[in-house]
Amino acid sequence: MSNVRFFGGQQFPLEMHKVRIIQKLNLHPIEKRLEAIMGAGYNTFLLRNEDVFLDMLTDSGVNAMSQEQQAAMFRADDAYAGSATYERLHAKLTELFGMEYFLPAHQGRAAENIISRVLVREGTYVPMNYHFTTSKQHIVENGGEVVELIRPEGLDVVSDEPFKGNIDVPRLRAFIEEKTPKKVSYVRMEAGTNLIGGQPFSLQNLRETYQICKEFQIPLVLDASLLADNLYFIHEREEDASGMTVRQITAEMAANADIIYFSARKLGFGRGGGILIREEETYKNMRGLIPMFEGFLTYGGMSVREMEAITVGLDETMDIDMIDQGPQFIEYMVRELDNRGIPVIKPAGGLGAHVDAMRFVDHIPQSEYPAGALAAALYIASGVRGMERGTMSEARDAEGVEPLADMELVRLAMPRRVFTLSQVNYAIDRLDWLYQNRRHIGGMEWEEEPEILRFFYGRLRPKTDWPNTIVKRFRADFGDSL
Ligand SMILES: *Cc1c(COP(=O)(O)O)cnc(C)c1O
Repeated sequence: MSNVRFFGGQQFPLEMHKVRIIQKLNLHPIEKRLEAIMGAGYNTFLLRNEDVFLDMLTDSGVNAMSQEQQAAMFRADDAYAGSATYERLHAKLTELFGMEYFLPAHQGRAAENIISRVLVREGTYVPMNYHFTTSKQHIVENGGEVVELIRPEGLDVVSDEPFKGNIDVPRLRAFIEEKTPKKVSYVRMEAGTNLIGGQPFSLQNLRETYQICKEFQIPLVLDASLLADNLYFIHEREEDASGMTVRQITAEMAANADIIYFSARKLGFGRGGGILIREEETYKNMRGLIPMFEGFLTYGGMSVREMEAITVGLDETMDIDMIDQGPQFIEYMVRELDNRGIPVIKPAGGLGAHVDAMRFVDHIPQSEYPAGALAAALYIASGVRGMERGTMSEARDAEGVEPLADMELVRLAMPRRVFTLSQVNYAIDRLDWLYQNRRHIGGMEWEEEPEILRFFYGRLRPKTDWPNTIVKRFRADFGDSL
C-alpha cells in the first residue's frame, strides 16, 4: 500500500513523518539573486548555500535523519579498532543483505576504487546497465572499458516503461559470448540509475542478469547507492514482487549479486559507504586496500557517529513509509510540471525531477549550453538551485572538440524528507512562470573553462543581456514580491 491519498479527486503525496528540527531559509529579492549568480559565474555549483532558497542540487549527504538515527549517534563507540559501532553496522548489513563480509569505506567512490583495483584487469570490459561518473572513472583508471547495455527505452526522454534502468539481457549474453568470459571483469548493475533520471531496474531483470553471470562465472557487482528508490519502485510497480515486503525484496536482490557496494550519503540517510562481499577470497583480496586508502577495517574513514546513523537508517529503509516520500514527491512534481506542458523526463524516477532543456529552451543551440542557461535562469527566477546535466557536464576530447550530450537536463534533486509540499509547489510555480517567459532566456559561453571536470568550477557568461530581461519581466509580473 502506498501513501498516495485521494482527496476531491486530486492525488497528492502525504508525509508520514513530522518535522521537529528546522533550518531557516533565505529567499532573496530577485535583484540579489541575479548578483549572486553573476558572482558564481552563472554556475549553480559556485553559489553559496546562503544565497539559495531550495537546494535541489543533489541528494547526496543532505537527506534528513530520523530521531532514532540522531539518538543512535550518541551511543557511538569511539575506538580505532574493534568498535561495537562497527559490529552493529556489520550485523545489520548481514541481516538485510545476507552477505557475511563487509568492508567500510568513507563514501561510494572509495568503494569503487577498491573494487576496480581488485577486479578490473587491463584490457577487459565491464558491461553495465549505465555508467555513473565516478564508477566509470575508476574502471578506466584500472585499464577497463565500460560497456553500456541499457535497453533502448532507457534513453527515451518520454516513455511508459516502468523499468527504464533495465539492462538488455540478450545483448549482455551476446557480448560475453563475443568477447569471451575471461575478457569481462564483472557485470555492474546500478540501482536507481542516476544519470538517466534515477530510473529503476526490475527484480526480474536482475535475476536474469545474475543467471548469465553465474553461467559464465563472472561476478555481478550491484551499486546499491540509490537502492531505496529502486526498492520503492519494485514494491509499487513490479507484478512479480506484489505481496513482497521491502525487506524480502532487498534479500532477493542481494541473493542475485556477488558484491554490493553503496554510498551511505544516499542509502541509509548518513555519510559513508562500504562493500558487501559473498566470497571469502574476494574479501581477502580487497581487505588490504582498506587500511591503505580508507582507515582501519572497523571504520574505513567513517565517523562512528555516522556509522550508528547508517545502521538505523538501513533498518528504516525497510519501512515503505520511510522511503516513499522522495519518489512520491518527485512523481507529484513531474506530474504537475507535465500538466503545465513543461517538458520533463517520464515516467518519474527517483533522485529528482529532470527538466528537458532541449525542449524547454529549444531556441538555444547545444553549443550555448541550454541546460546550463536554464539552471541559471531558474535560480534567478526562484532561488531554486538545480544542476546542469548536459553538454557542460561533458569533457572535451584530446583535440579539444566538445561532444554534445545525449540529453540536456536540469536536475532538480529531491533531498529525502527535507522539503514540504508547498516548497515543491513553489518550485513548480516558478518553473511555470519561467516556461511562459522561456523565449527571454539566452545562451551561455565560457569565461573560464577548466580542463578537468569543468562543470564543477568553470565560470560562464550570458551571450546577451538576457538575465536582466528576466529580472524586468519578473518585476512586471510579480510587483514587489520576492
Ligand atoms: C553518488 C553515487 C556514487 C558515488 O558515491 P559518493 O558517496 O558520492 O562517492 C556511486 N554510484 C551512484 C549510483 C551514486 O548515485
